[in-house]
Amino acid sequence: MIEVKNVTKKYGSFTAVDNISFNIKEGEIVGLLGPNGAGKSTTMNMLTGFIEPNEGQIIIDGYDMLKKPKKAKKQIGYMPEGVPLYNDLTVKEFINYMADLKMVPKKEKKEKVQKIIEQTNLKDVQNKLIRNISRGYKQRVSMAGALVGSPKILILDEPTVGLDPKQITEIRALIKSFGKDHTIILSSHILSEVSQICEKVIIINKGKIVAVDTPNNLEEKVKEGNVLQITVEDKEGKIEEVSKNIKGIKEIKLIKTNSDNTKEYTITSDKETDLRKELFEKYSKENITIFELKKAESTLEDAFMKLIENKDEEGKKNVGNTKKRS
Ligand code: ADP
Ligand code: MG
Repeated sequence: MIEVKNVTKKYGSFTAVDNISFNIKEGEIVGLLGPNGAGKSTTMNMLTGFIEPNEGQIIIDGYDMLKKPKKAKKQIGYMPEGVPLYNDLTVKEFINYMADLKMVPKKEKKEKVQKIIEQTNLKDVQNKLIRNISRGYKQRVSMAGALVGSPKILILDEPTVGLDPKQITEIRALIKSFGKDHTIILSSHILSEVSQICEKVIIINKGKIVAVDTPNNLEEKVKEGNVLQITVEDKEGKIEEVSKNIKGIKEIKLIKTNSDNTKEYTITSDKETDLRKELFEKYSKENITIFELKKAESTLEDAFMKLIENKDEEGKKNVGNTKKRS
């Protein structure tokens, strides 16, 4: 549905998006994840045909964005970063205005606008001026604008920025519901967000794609080994000595000593080795009692940081990045 091939965008001599390629299939919900200044908005602006790449090709539903911009753009509903600026229009006027822009036929307009108002739960505020509604409602108005014209693809730039937790939950639910009959690409610098909404994640940093995978696989990929969290009673203080003689343990680290004198450690092994059974046997022989043993969870957050750090190491010579707050 979306094909991006070797796309580069420069602002002057600064490369904001650097030779990126990816594909998005029909019906997928994909997250474009990266820190501020990574190139997310620039990428989305190119996908929507809002700005042109210096190099590369973007194909939307079979139409080349440069050669057939009208047809390509018709398939796209875009929700830009930030809130809509049409403060002096009512919610309904704004959606009608968008319908005119998208050239929705007159006959269908009224019905279509009403349907979108219902889909985005804007009925209560449809006659209020946009300036007078809350941030959460504004975001939904913006989303409504993207839905006008029944596009196959929704491009949502940081859809939850600036919202309170309740509003975030509402917007997420809304995005998921639209995922049933749209292909969606949304950007975010929040990890938990993409892992909750998206089935595929594209991680971008300093204009380059550093990984494309499912949230689960990304976590798996960057795990250096299995990390176990263990709580023991070790009256004779032998655990570190004993552990030295267990093959497969790469590291044992004391995390803390509890008030009941039990101690918490993390134990790292190779990816392939499951030490749980052996630990139970060997420790109990040495009078080390295991109170608790569990696998430590590695989060998408870890994955993200690790991927970005690795790429940073590789690209130390890549200087001259000016960071922008967005
Ligand atoms: P993100 O959306 O991931 O925060 P952007 O795509 O907005 O990132 O920006 C990527 C980089 O390009 C940033 O370093 C930003 O400062 C720069 N940039 C964005 N827009 C412009 C512009 N119009 N002119 C010059 N530099 C820009
Ligand atoms: Mg942005």
